Amino acid sequence: MAIRAKKQFGQHWLTSDIALNNIIRTAQLSKGDRILEIGPGTGVLTKRMLPYVDKLLAIEIDRDLCKLLVKEYGEKDNFLLLEGDFLELDIPDILGNFPHFSNYNKVVANIPYNITGPIIEKLLGTISSPNPNPLESIVLLIQKEVGDRLVAEPNNKIYGALSVRVQYLAECEIVCEVPAKDFRPRPKVDSVVVKITPRKLEKEVNNSKFLETIIKLGFSSRRKMLKNNLKSIVDNDKLEEVLTNLNLNTLARAENLSLTDWILLSDELEKI
Ligand code: SAH
Repeated sequence: MAIRAKKQFGQHWLTSDIALNNIIRTAQLSKGDRILEIGPGTGVLTKRMLPYVDKLLAIEIDRDLCKLLVKEYGEKDNFLLLEGDFLELDIPDILGNFPHFSNYNKVVANIPYNITGPIIEKLLGTISSPNPNPLESIVLLIQKEVGDRLVAEPNNKIYGALSVRVQYLAECEIVCEVPAKDFRPRPKVDSVVVKITPRKLEKEVNNSKFLETIIKLGFSSRRKMLKNNLKSIVDNDKLEEVLTNLNLNTLARAENLSLTDWILLSDELEKI
């Protein structure tokens, strides 16, 4: 049965078996997995995962879809559906009543694209406040342009604050492309499946709040050189000296610095 998609919830039903199989394969499901799915929609992905996992917690904002999902999968012992906004729900609090579904270790989802950034931040946390219970892996279907930014490397036009912030917390990989024609209704943009694997860096930054600040300021005006964007926190001369000591060009822009460069720069500037 075709379910009409609602625009306000970013609904685009995935219709490609190839894409669904790619998502499932990337998640490397095993019998012990406890999955969180954000925005199950009509349940195309849910249906494929349920037989292979220990527990599946789904969070769906659309009441009509929730009714449908309960009718379809409500009987399954390993399925729990929460109706609400993933970004707003206090999930640990709610799961106090459903302890079997807490401690999910993987996220697998085809998410609404308009809230991709906030969803990733809720899953990973931030540089200064990382998720204390890191997930094993996060497999998401997202807009291609955002996926490209997650994996972007320095000296690339699309390498930005998002790239540095997420790469600090996780390894990101683009698994495959999913063209717009694989969805109903067809979105305006192409999509990719990404795998985000949270990890700890060997050498973490000394002052994570400070690193967040210089990333934000550094990328605030992309055309400007770092020494201009960071003027409010460090003198030009001093910054030039630190950049030189780090083997970086004194005319560098934010997009020229690798993740390691950002960490070293933060540690140096913070000492001043
Ligand atoms: N997984 C389905 C649907 C993807 S569309 C498929 O692949 O076909 C995105 C889904 O996220 C929709 O079902 C939409 O209702 C739901 N959604 C949108 N905003 C949400 C939010 N804030 N919290 C939870 N679900 C949301």
